[in-house]
Amino acid sequence: VAGLDVEKVRKDFPILGTQVHGKPLVYFDNGATTQKPQVVIDAEARYYENYNSNVHRGVHHLSQVATNAYEQARQTVASFINAAHSHEIIFTKGTTDGINLVANAMSRRFLKAGDTVIISAMEHHSNIVPWQIACEDNGATLKVIPINEKGELQMEAFKAMLDETVKIVAVTYVSNTMGTINRVEEIIELAHAKNIPVLIDAAQAIQHISIDVQALKPDFLAFSGHKIYGPTGTGVLYGTTEWLNKLPPYQGGGDMIKTVTFAKTTYNELPYKFEAGTPNIAGAIALAAGIEYLQGLGLEKVQQYEEELMTYALQELRKIDGLRLIGDAAHRSGAISFLVHNIHPFDMGELLDQQGIAVRTGHHCTEPLMDLFRIPGTVRASLSFYNTKEEVDKLVAGVKRAASMLL
Ligand code: PMP
Repeated sequence: VAGLDVEKVRKDFPILGTQVHGKPLVYFDNGATTQKPQVVIDAEARYYENYNSNVHRGVHHLSQVATNAYEQARQTVASFINAAHSHEIIFTKGTTDGINLVANAMSRRFLKAGDTVIISAMEHHSNIVPWQIACEDNGATLKVIPINEKGELQMEAFKAMLDETVKIVAVTYVSNTMGTINRVEEIIELAHAKNIPVLIDAAQAIQHISIDVQALKPDFLAFSGHKIYGPTGTGVLYGTTEWLNKLPPYQGGGDMIKTVTFAKTTYNELPYKFEAGTPNIAGAIALAAGIEYLQGLGLEKVQQYEEELMTYALQELRKIDGLRLIGDAAHRSGAISFLVHNIHPFDMGELLDQQGIAVRTGHHCTEPLMDLFRIPGTVRASLSFYNTKEEVDKLVAGVKRAASMLL
Protein backbone atom coordinates (compact mmCIF):
# COMPACT_ATOMS: atom_id res chain seq x y z
CA VAL A 1 0.00 0.00 0.00
CA ALA A 2 1.09 3.53 -0.75
CA GLY A 3 1.87 5.73 2.22
CA LEU A 4 0.19 8.97 3.13
CA ASP A 5 0.51 11.69 0.47
CA VAL A 6 1.39 14.47 2.89
CA GLU A 7 1.73 17.27 0.34
CA LYS A 8 -1.77 16.49 -0.93
CA VAL A 9 -3.18 16.19 2.58
CA ARG A 10 -1.71 19.55 3.61
CA LYS A 11 -3.82 21.28 0.95
CA ASP A 12 -6.94 20.16 2.85
CA PHE A 13 -5.96 22.51 5.72
CA PRO A 14 -6.28 26.18 4.72
CA ILE A 15 -4.24 27.44 7.68
CA LEU A 16 -1.18 25.39 6.71
CA GLY A 17 -0.69 27.66 3.69
CA THR A 18 -0.49 30.82 5.80
CA GLN A 19 2.47 32.76 7.15
CA VAL A 20 3.51 33.90 10.61
CA HIS A 21 5.92 36.83 10.97
CA GLY A 22 6.52 36.59 7.22
CA LYS A 23 7.57 32.93 7.46
CA PRO A 24 5.55 29.87 6.38
CA LEU A 25 3.70 28.53 9.40
CA VAL A 26 5.33 25.45 10.94
CA TYR A 27 2.69 24.17 13.32
CA PHE A 28 3.98 21.90 16.06
CA ASP A 29 1.33 22.64 18.68
CA ASN A 30 -1.05 19.86 17.71
CA GLY A 31 -1.28 18.58 21.28
CA ALA A 32 -2.95 21.87 22.24
CA THR A 33 -5.31 21.79 19.28
CA THR A 34 -5.16 20.42 15.76
CA GLN A 35 -5.85 22.43 12.63
CA LYS A 36 -9.11 21.88 10.76
CA PRO A 37 -9.53 20.50 7.26
CA GLN A 38 -11.86 22.39 4.91
CA VAL A 39 -14.49 19.63 5.21
CA VAL A 40 -14.86 20.37 8.93
CA ILE A 41 -15.13 24.12 8.37
CA ASP A 42 -17.69 23.46 5.61
CA ALA A 43 -19.77 21.08 7.73
CA GLU A 44 -20.07 23.69 10.47
CA ALA A 45 -21.00 26.43 7.98
CA ARG A 46 -23.47 24.20 6.12
CA TYR A 47 -25.47 23.62 9.27
CA TYR A 48 -25.86 27.36 9.91
CA GLU A 49 -26.49 28.15 6.25
CA ASN A 50 -28.97 25.39 5.45
CA TYR A 51 -30.62 23.72 8.42
CA ASN A 52 -29.92 25.66 11.61
CA SER A 53 -32.60 24.51 14.02
CA ASN A 54 -32.86 23.05 17.50
CA VAL A 55 -32.72 19.28 17.92
CA HIS A 56 -35.12 16.76 19.49
CA ARG A 57 -37.86 19.37 19.77
CA GLY A 58 -39.59 20.58 16.66
CA VAL A 59 -41.88 18.58 14.42
CA HIS A 60 -40.96 21.01 11.67
CA HIS A 61 -38.75 20.02 8.76
CA LEU A 62 -35.52 21.84 9.69
CA SER A 63 -35.58 20.52 13.22
CA GLN A 64 -35.87 17.01 11.88
CA VAL A 65 -32.98 17.53 9.47
CA ALA A 66 -30.85 18.92 12.30
CA THR A 67 -31.84 16.09 14.65
CA ASN A 68 -31.00 13.48 12.02
CA ALA A 69 -27.60 15.04 11.35
CA TYR A 70 -26.83 15.32 15.08
CA GLU A 71 -27.81 11.69 15.72
CA GLN A 72 -25.90 10.58 12.63
CA ALA A 73 -22.83 12.29 14.12
CA ARG A 74 -23.32 10.19 17.25
CA GLN A 75 -23.41 7.05 15.10
CA THR A 76 -20.20 8.10 13.36
CA VAL A 77 -18.43 8.49 16.71
CA ALA A 78 -19.87 5.19 17.97
CA SER A 79 -18.59 3.25 14.98
CA PHE A 80 -15.24 5.09 15.08
CA ILE A 81 -14.49 3.74 18.56
CA ASN A 82 -16.60 0.60 18.03
CA ALA A 83 -19.05 1.30 20.85
CA ALA A 84 -21.69 -1.40 21.21
CA HIS A 85 -24.50 1.22 21.22
CA SER A 86 -24.72 4.82 20.03
CA HIS A 87 -26.44 5.74 23.32
CA GLU A 88 -23.06 5.12 24.96
CA ILE A 89 -21.78 8.27 23.22
CA ILE A 90 -22.44 11.45 25.20
CA PHE A 91 -21.61 14.71 23.45
CA THR A 92 -19.73 17.07 25.76
CA LYS A 93 -17.77 20.31 25.57
CA GLY A 94 -14.49 18.42 25.65
CA THR A 95 -12.33 16.07 27.69
CA THR A 96 -12.52 18.32 30.75
CA ASP A 97 -16.30 18.33 30.61
CA GLY A 98 -16.47 14.54 30.22
CA ILE A 99 -14.16 13.89 33.17
CA ASN A 100 -16.07 16.39 35.32
CA LEU A 101 -19.31 14.64 34.44
CA VAL A 102 -18.01 11.29 35.69
CA ALA A 103 -16.18 12.70 38.74
CA ASN A 104 -19.21 14.72 39.80
CA ALA A 105 -21.68 11.87 39.37
CA MET A 106 -19.34 9.36 41.05
CA SER A 107 -18.81 11.81 43.88
CA ARG A 108 -22.51 12.14 44.56
CA ARG A 109 -23.41 8.46 44.32
CA PHE A 110 -20.37 6.23 44.83
CA LEU A 111 -17.71 7.90 46.99
CA LYS A 112 -17.57 7.96 50.77
CA ALA A 113 -15.04 8.61 53.54
CA GLY A 114 -12.17 6.13 53.42
CA ASP A 115 -12.53 5.44 49.69
CA THR A 116 -9.69 5.90 47.23
CA VAL A 117 -9.44 7.34 43.72
CA ILE A 118 -6.35 6.43 41.72
CA ILE A 119 -4.84 8.72 39.08
CA SER A 120 -1.26 8.91 37.77
CA ALA A 121 1.69 11.27 38.14
CA MET A 122 1.43 12.36 34.51
CA GLU A 123 -2.21 13.47 34.46
CA HIS A 124 -3.39 16.71 32.91
CA HIS A 125 -4.96 19.06 35.47
CA SER A 126 -8.35 18.13 34.05
CA ASN A 127 -7.85 14.55 35.25
CA ILE A 128 -6.56 15.67 38.65
CA VAL A 129 -8.68 18.54 39.91
CA PRO A 130 -12.17 17.02 39.36
CA TRP A 131 -11.06 13.98 41.40
CA GLN A 132 -9.51 16.16 44.06
CA ILE A 133 -12.83 17.97 44.42
CA ALA A 134 -14.71 14.65 44.53
CA CYS A 135 -12.33 13.33 47.21
CA GLU A 136 -12.53 16.52 49.28
CA ASP A 137 -16.31 16.46 49.20
CA ASN A 138 -16.43 12.89 50.53
CA GLY A 139 -13.37 12.49 52.75
CA ALA A 140 -11.88 10.13 50.17
CA THR A 141 -8.18 9.90 49.29
CA LEU A 142 -6.48 10.59 45.97
CA LYS A 143 -3.58 8.22 45.24
CA VAL A 144 -1.07 8.69 42.46
CA ILE A 145 0.62 5.98 40.37
CA PRO A 146 4.33 6.92 40.32
CA ILE A 147 6.47 7.10 37.17
CA ASN A 148 10.08 6.19 36.48
CA GLU A 149 12.69 8.64 35.20
CA LYS A 150 11.73 7.84 31.60
CA GLY A 151 8.18 8.96 32.28
CA GLU A 152 6.60 5.50 32.33
CA LEU A 153 4.03 4.32 34.86
CA GLN A 154 5.34 1.97 37.54
CA MET A 155 2.98 -0.93 37.16
CA GLU A 156 4.12 -2.84 40.25
CA ALA A 157 3.30 0.16 42.40
CA PHE A 158 -0.08 0.40 40.67
CA LYS A 159 -0.86 -3.26 41.42
CA ALA A 160 -0.03 -2.73 45.08
CA MET A 161 -2.48 0.20 45.24
CA LEU A 162 -5.48 -1.83 44.09
CA ASP A 163 -7.26 -2.64 47.33
CA GLU A 164 -10.95 -2.73 48.26
CA THR A 165 -11.06 1.01 49.05
CA VAL A 166 -10.45 1.95 45.39
CA LYS A 167 -13.64 3.18 43.70
CA ILE A 168 -12.23 4.29 40.33
CA VAL A 169 -8.97 4.46 38.39
CA ALA A 170 -8.61 7.46 36.05
CA VAL A 171 -5.53 7.57 33.83
CA THR A 172 -4.41 9.10 30.61
CA TYR A 173 -3.79 6.90 27.57
CA VAL A 174 -1.04 9.18 26.23
CA SER A 175 0.81 11.87 28.19
CA ASN A 176 0.22 15.31 26.70
CA THR A 177 3.62 16.45 28.02
CA MET A 178 5.94 13.49 27.38
CA GLY A 179 4.08 11.49 24.75
CA THR A 180 4.28 8.30 26.86
CA ILE A 181 1.78 5.68 25.74
CA ASN A 182 0.53 4.01 28.89
CA ARG A 183 -0.28 0.32 29.17
CA VAL A 184 -3.97 1.01 29.51
CA GLU A 185 -5.04 -2.53 28.47
CA GLU A 186 -3.15 -3.90 31.45
CA ILE A 187 -4.41 -1.17 33.78
CA ILE A 188 -7.99 -1.95 32.82
CA GLU A 189 -7.50 -5.72 33.22
CA LEU A 190 -5.92 -5.35 36.64
CA ALA A 191 -8.62 -2.98 37.87
CA HIS A 192 -11.44 -5.08 36.47
CA ALA A 193 -10.06 -8.16 38.20
CA LYS A 194 -10.99 -6.29 41.40
CA ASN A 195 -14.29 -4.92 40.02
CA ILE A 196 -12.93 -1.38 39.88
CA PRO A 197 -14.10 0.83 36.99
CA VAL A 198 -11.57 2.69 34.83
CA LEU A 199 -11.79 6.05 33.09
CA ILE A 200 -9.38 6.63 30.22
CA ASP A 201 -8.42 10.18 29.27
CA ALA A 202 -7.99 9.71 25.53
CA ALA A 203 -7.43 13.41 24.70
CA GLN A 204 -3.97 12.69 23.28
CA ALA A 205 -4.65 9.16 22.03
CA ILE A 206 -7.78 9.36 19.93
CA GLN A 207 -6.05 11.21 17.06
CA HIS A 208 -3.01 8.89 16.98
CA ILE A 209 -4.06 5.38 18.04
CA SER A 210 -7.08 3.38 16.88
CA ILE A 211 -9.33 2.70 19.82
CA ASP A 212 -11.86 -0.13 20.00
CA VAL A 213 -13.74 0.28 23.25
CA GLN A 214 -15.18 -3.22 23.11
CA ALA A 215 -11.66 -4.66 22.92
CA LEU A 216 -10.05 -2.21 25.37
CA LYS A 217 -13.05 -2.32 27.73
CA PRO A 218 -12.75 1.02 29.53
CA ASP A 219 -15.82 1.90 31.62
CA PHE A 220 -15.42 5.53 30.54
CA LEU A 221 -13.32 7.18 27.86
CA ALA A 222 -13.19 10.92 27.23
CA PHE A 223 -11.75 12.97 24.39
CA SER A 224 -11.96 16.44 22.83
CA GLY A 225 -13.19 17.16 19.32
CA HIS A 226 -10.70 19.98 18.75
CA LYS A 227 -7.71 17.66 19.14
CA ILE A 228 -9.00 15.31 16.46
CA TYR A 229 -9.45 17.88 13.68
CA GLY A 230 -12.93 18.93 14.84
CA PRO A 231 -14.20 22.19 16.35
CA THR A 232 -13.47 23.59 19.81
CA GLY A 233 -16.22 23.21 22.38
CA THR A 234 -16.97 19.64 21.29
CA GLY A 235 -16.09 16.36 22.90
CA VAL A 236 -17.17 12.85 23.62
CA LEU A 237 -17.67 10.85 26.75
CA TYR A 238 -18.03 7.16 26.08
CA GLY A 239 -19.47 5.11 28.93
CA THR A 240 -20.73 1.56 29.11
CA THR A 241 -24.52 1.27 29.25
CA GLU A 242 -24.17 -0.30 32.66
CA TRP A 243 -22.20 2.59 34.16
CA LEU A 244 -24.10 5.38 32.43
CA ASN A 245 -27.33 3.94 33.79
CA LYS A 246 -25.87 3.69 37.29
CA LEU A 247 -24.62 7.29 37.39
CA PRO A 248 -26.96 10.11 38.43
CA PRO A 249 -27.39 12.99 35.97
CA TYR A 250 -24.71 15.68 35.92
CA GLN A 251 -26.59 18.81 34.90
CA GLY A 252 -30.34 19.36 35.00
CA GLY A 253 -32.34 21.12 32.33
CA GLY A 254 -34.11 20.67 29.05
CA ASP A 255 -33.72 17.46 27.01
CA MET A 256 -32.43 15.39 29.96
CA ILE A 257 -35.89 14.82 31.46
CA LYS A 258 -38.82 12.54 30.80
CA THR A 259 -41.41 14.39 32.88
CA VAL A 260 -41.09 17.33 35.26
CA THR A 261 -43.39 18.30 38.10
CA PHE A 262 -42.43 20.42 41.09
CA ALA A 263 -42.73 17.30 43.22
CA LYS A 264 -40.59 14.96 41.11
CA THR A 265 -38.69 14.77 37.85
CA THR A 266 -37.95 11.60 35.95
CA TYR A 267 -34.90 11.46 33.75
CA ASN A 268 -34.61 10.76 30.07
CA GLU A 269 -32.97 7.62 28.75
CA LEU A 270 -29.38 7.44 27.50
CA PRO A 271 -27.71 9.41 26.05
CA TYR A 272 -30.09 12.34 26.65
CA LYS A 273 -29.94 11.96 30.45
CA PHE A 274 -26.44 13.48 30.22
CA GLU A 275 -27.08 16.11 27.55
CA ALA A 276 -28.95 18.88 29.35
CA GLY A 277 -29.76 21.97 27.30
CA THR A 278 -29.23 22.74 23.65
CA PRO A 279 -26.04 20.97 22.62
CA ASN A 280 -23.32 22.23 20.27
CA ILE A 281 -25.22 20.87 17.27
CA ALA A 282 -23.02 22.32 14.55
CA GLY A 283 -19.95 21.27 16.53
CA ALA A 284 -21.02 17.63 16.87
CA ILE A 285 -21.80 17.45 13.16
CA ALA A 286 -18.45 19.01 12.26
CA LEU A 287 -16.64 16.71 14.70
CA ALA A 288 -18.13 13.75 12.85
CA ALA A 289 -16.87 15.31 9.61
CA GLY A 290 -13.37 15.48 11.12
CA ILE A 291 -13.52 11.83 12.15
CA GLU A 292 -14.75 10.83 8.71
CA TYR A 293 -11.93 12.82 7.17
CA LEU A 294 -9.38 10.94 9.29
CA GLN A 295 -11.00 7.61 8.43
CA GLY A 296 -10.90 8.60 4.77
CA LEU A 297 -7.12 9.10 4.95
CA GLY A 298 -6.79 5.63 6.44
CA LEU A 299 -5.95 5.38 10.11
CA GLU A 300 -3.20 2.83 9.54
CA LYS A 301 -1.47 5.06 7.02
CA VAL A 302 -1.77 8.03 9.36
CA GLN A 303 -0.38 6.06 12.27
CA GLN A 304 2.50 4.67 10.26
CA TYR A 305 3.45 8.11 8.97
CA GLU A 306 3.20 9.70 12.43
CA GLU A 307 5.45 6.99 13.88
CA GLU A 308 8.05 7.57 11.17
CA LEU A 309 7.95 11.30 11.77
CA MET A 310 8.25 10.83 15.54
CA THR A 311 11.28 8.56 15.11
CA TYR A 312 12.90 11.08 12.78
CA ALA A 313 12.17 14.04 15.07
CA LEU A 314 13.59 12.24 18.11
CA GLN A 315 16.69 11.19 16.20
CA GLU A 316 17.37 14.73 14.95
CA LEU A 317 16.55 16.50 18.21
CA ARG A 318 18.85 14.17 20.17
CA LYS A 319 21.77 15.43 18.04
CA ILE A 320 21.38 18.97 19.39
CA ASP A 321 24.10 19.88 21.84
CA GLY A 322 22.74 20.23 25.38
CA LEU A 323 19.24 19.02 24.52
CA ARG A 324 17.57 16.92 27.18
CA LEU A 325 14.35 15.06 26.54
CA ILE A 326 11.81 15.26 29.35
CA GLY A 327 10.27 11.82 29.23
CA ASP A 328 11.92 9.18 27.10
CA ALA A 329 9.44 6.31 27.11
CA ALA A 330 9.91 3.26 24.92
CA HIS A 331 6.37 3.64 23.55
CA ARG A 332 5.36 7.15 22.65
CA SER A 333 3.15 9.23 20.43
CA GLY A 334 2.40 12.84 19.67
CA ALA A 335 4.40 15.00 22.03
CA ILE A 336 8.12 15.57 22.49
CA SER A 337 9.19 17.70 25.46
CA PHE A 338 12.71 19.01 25.82
CA LEU A 339 15.00 21.58 27.38
CA VAL A 340 18.28 22.88 25.99
CA HIS A 341 21.06 23.62 28.47
CA ASN A 342 19.56 26.02 31.01
CA ILE A 343 17.56 28.06 28.49
CA HIS A 344 14.13 28.98 29.78
CA PRO A 345 11.39 27.35 27.66
CA PHE A 346 9.60 30.70 27.15
CA ASP A 347 12.72 32.26 25.64
CA MET A 348 13.13 29.30 23.30
CA GLY A 349 9.43 29.44 22.37
CA GLU A 350 9.59 33.13 21.54
CA LEU A 351 12.62 32.78 19.30
CA LEU A 352 11.01 29.83 17.51
CA ASP A 353 7.84 31.85 17.02
CA GLN A 354 9.82 34.58 15.30
CA GLN A 355 10.85 31.92 12.79
CA GLY A 356 7.21 30.95 12.21
CA ILE A 357 7.49 27.80 14.33
CA ALA A 358 4.65 27.21 16.78
CA VAL A 359 5.51 25.09 19.83
CA ARG A 360 4.08 25.04 23.33
CA THR A 361 6.09 26.18 26.31
CA GLY A 362 5.28 25.94 29.99
CA HIS A 363 3.91 23.25 32.27
CA HIS A 364 1.28 21.96 29.79
CA CYS A 365 -1.32 21.73 32.58
CA THR A 366 0.83 19.07 34.26
CA GLU A 367 2.36 21.05 37.13
CA PRO A 368 2.83 18.03 39.45
CA LEU A 369 4.80 16.31 36.68
CA MET A 370 7.03 19.39 36.28
CA ASP A 371 7.61 19.35 40.05
CA LEU A 372 8.68 15.69 39.84
CA PHE A 373 11.28 16.55 37.22
CA ARG A 374 12.14 19.75 39.17
CA ILE A 375 11.71 21.97 36.12
CA PRO A 376 9.47 25.00 35.53
CA GLY A 377 8.29 23.74 32.18
CA THR A 378 9.39 22.37 28.83
CA VAL A 379 9.40 23.20 25.16
CA ARG A 380 6.89 20.84 23.58
CA ALA A 381 6.67 19.97 19.91
CA SER A 382 3.60 17.86 19.16
CA LEU A 383 3.19 16.21 15.79
CA SER A 384 0.37 15.53 13.38
CA PHE A 385 0.19 13.64 10.09
CA TYR A 386 0.32 16.93 8.16
CA ASN A 387 3.77 17.76 9.53
CA THR A 388 6.76 16.95 7.34
CA LYS A 389 10.39 15.97 7.76
CA GLU A 390 11.30 19.36 6.30
CA GLU A 391 9.35 20.99 9.12
CA VAL A 392 11.23 18.85 11.63
CA ASP A 393 14.46 20.06 10.04
CA LYS A 394 13.25 23.65 10.43
CA LEU A 395 12.46 23.00 14.07
CA VAL A 396 15.90 21.50 14.69
CA ALA A 397 17.62 24.39 12.90
CA GLY A 398 15.41 26.83 14.80
CA VAL A 399 16.28 25.32 18.17
CA LYS A 400 20.00 25.45 17.31
CA ARG A 401 19.75 29.07 16.18
CA ALA A 402 17.79 30.05 19.29
CA ALA A 403 20.31 28.24 21.51
CA SER A 404 23.23 30.04 19.86
CA MET A 405 21.51 33.38 20.52
CA LEU A 406 20.57 32.60 24.12
CA LEU A 407 23.70 30.87 25.40
N1 PMP B 1 -6.31 15.55 29.06
C1 PMP B 1 -5.23 15.62 28.29
C2 PMP B 1 -4.24 14.49 28.30
C3 PMP B 1 -5.04 16.75 27.49
O1 PMP B 1 -3.95 16.84 26.72
C4 PMP B 1 -6.00 17.79 27.50
C5 PMP B 1 -5.82 19.04 26.65
N2 PMP B 1 -4.53 19.59 26.68
C6 PMP B 1 -7.11 17.64 28.31
C7 PMP B 1 -7.24 16.51 29.07
C8 PMP B 1 -8.18 18.68 28.38
O2 PMP B 1 -8.82 18.82 27.16
P1 PMP B 1 -9.81 20.04 26.91
O3 PMP B 1 -9.08 21.28 27.32
O4 PMP B 1 -10.07 19.98 25.43
O5 PMP B 1 -11.03 19.78 27.72
